[in-house]
Amino acid sequence: MAEFSLSLNEDQTQIQKWVHGFAEDVMRPAAHEWDEREEFPYPIVEQAAEIGLYGWEFLMNAMQDQTGLTLPVAVEELFWGDAGLGMAIMGTSLAAAGIAGVGTPEQVMEWVPQCFGSAGDVKLGAFCVSEPDAGSDVSSLRTRAVYDQATDEWVLNGTKAWITNGGIADVHVVVAAVDPELRGRGQASFVIPPGTKGLSQGQKYLKHGIRASHTAEVVLDDVRIPGSCLLGGKERLDAKLARAREVGSSGEKQPAMSTFEATRPTVGAQALGIARAAYEYSLEYAKERKAFGRPIIMNQAIAFKLANMITEIDASRLLIWRAAWLARNGGFKNAEGSMSKWKAPETAVRVTEEAIQILGGYGYTREYPVERWHRDAKIHTIFEGTSEIQQLVISRAISGLRIE
Ligand SMILES: Cc1cc2nc3c(=O)[nH]c(=O)nc-3n(C[C@H](O)[C@H](O)[C@H](O)COP(=O)(O)OP(=O)(O)OC[C@H]3O[C@@H](n4cnc5c(N)ncnc54)[C@H](O)[C@@H]3O)c2cc1C
Repeated sequence: MAEFSLSLNEDQTQIQKWVHGFAEDVMRPAAHEWDEREEFPYPIVEQAAEIGLYGWEFLMNAMQDQTGLTLPVAVEELFWGDAGLGMAIMGTSLAAAGIAGVGTPEQVMEWVPQCFGSAGDVKLGAFCVSEPDAGSDVSSLRTRAVYDQATDEWVLNGTKAWITNGGIADVHVVVAAVDPELRGRGQASFVIPPGTKGLSQGQKYLKHGIRASHTAEVVLDDVRIPGSCLLGGKERLDAKLARAREVGSSGEKQPAMSTFEATRPTVGAQALGIARAAYEYSLEYAKERKAFGRPIIMNQAIAFKLANMITEIDASRLLIWRAAWLARNGGFKNAEGSMSKWKAPETAVRVTEEAIQILGGYGYTREYPVERWHRDAKIHTIFEGTSEIQQLVISRAISGLRIE
């Protein structure tokens, strides 16, 4: 078991500086332009790949850190740089985590590197769970996967909604119902290899924030994939389905509510990076801006806002680090992963709103970055489990009851 410590080790400090350097020198200057263009920022992702920040090796190394802190530390810096560009860099890791979570070691080695490509030839991955009628309630997915024994192929049909990198990704990881009656327990994950016929992009969503990150529908129309693309393999799936049929779907945990507990601190760290950016910016502004003959920070109304912002930011970071450490060391007791995913995004929304208030009229214009940070913060209370779902998970964990 690794020691829990609030002081980062040498490796972590170096990674923090390295990511901060990229965030400051490459992401910050490009953020406004890509937000306005609302297009996937290939040149930025390519630059991240050139220095090894976008790539499976970086992700694997970070995930192997036994303290669990390397990933949230790196992600905070990335999103301090910019959240839209940050999501463009991080989006593929959702697919990689989907493969690593249920794939066999051979499948992980085959597909995770293909999600990222290489420095000169960047590829993207997408993780496709949500559907137009199933977001929080992922146990009711309608996308079907049917096994064709004659050809040892799976045939997938359905529509996925709000998918990061959807349709532009090279590798799509799709969660589909194999036995819909078993709801969450009757689902499996599949890799759709690059260039597979029948997979297409539906509408591209125009968004409130993280506009440099691509979000689109993914349509699966008689998509045929080899049997080997079932993550975890057929034997394991058959055994899982047989167990589920014995107990039925009653009493099952909703996968969206518990499966992602270990990855939630990383999403919290994304929001934390945005909140810190807004706090730092508005603190400097409040010291410079004069009204009634003195810097606005000399008014308690402004100074107390900033005191509250930094306190909430630090509280969020402590929850994130604790959850990241628990994910590797001893596991969760009271859904601490969800606590961090609830607290940090809510903090980021409030802090970025206060930052706009501190900047006044300038804060409301797109000339200044704080309104963008406010728009970017909001998604974190919605995706990867809404704030309400996090509270539901915590309530169930502390009570042992199926709170509805
Ligand atoms: C920019 C963006 C990127 C995304 N990327 C991906 C991706 O890469 N892959 C992917 O699979 N999905 C992705 N999503 C989808 C995202 O995960 C879902 O939007 C999210 O899970 C919420 O689902 P929903 O939109 O269907 O809302 P709903 O589930 O319909 O919820 C609507 C509201 O009702 C509340 N609610 C629902 N159920 C309960 C309950 N039991 N108790 C209390 N309140 C409840 C919710 O908290 C929310 O406030 C993305 C979404 C966006 C906007």
